[in-house]
Amino acid sequence: MHDDCPFCKIVMGEMKVREIYRDNNTVAFVDNLPRFAQGQCVVIHRRHVEQFYELEDREIAELFGAVKQVAKKLKKAYDPQFVSVFSRGQTVPHAHIIVFPSQPMGTMDGFLKSLYFAYQLGSKSGESNLDETAKLIKDAEGH
Ligand SMILES: [Zn+2]
Repeated sequence: MHDDCPFCKIVMGEMKVREIYRDNNTVAFVDNLPRFAQGQCVVIHRRHVEQFYELEDREIAELFGAVKQVAKKLKKAYDPQFVSVFSRGQTVPHAHIIVFPSQPMGTMDGFLKSLYFAYQLGSKSGESNLDETAKLIKDAEGH
């Protein structure tokens, strides 16, 4: 629990949100600033870590169990073709997974297209670079 963390306050019930799911370890709520789609939700584990990969394996399973529950709710509520997940962790330094309904030709496609073009412009990347990429990642030591 971090006193100045809004997501910890949500876990403790000290900050009001539009909660849509809660179990012993996780909380999910409707995002106040939906950027991807209507119905965008945020899923958090109650333990405060900045990045999701800092959670223990068991906690990861708990977090993604909740993501699954939320995804099923979104599928039922909006009947989108896809339910997408996104995680970066810039806005609030408490690991969170964003879950949102996604349609073909929706926001997500525009987002992905813009990423693709930005990446192509910014790099000399081609098929040959993928071998280097694979080697770099494969050889990097994880913990
Ligand atoms: Zn927190």
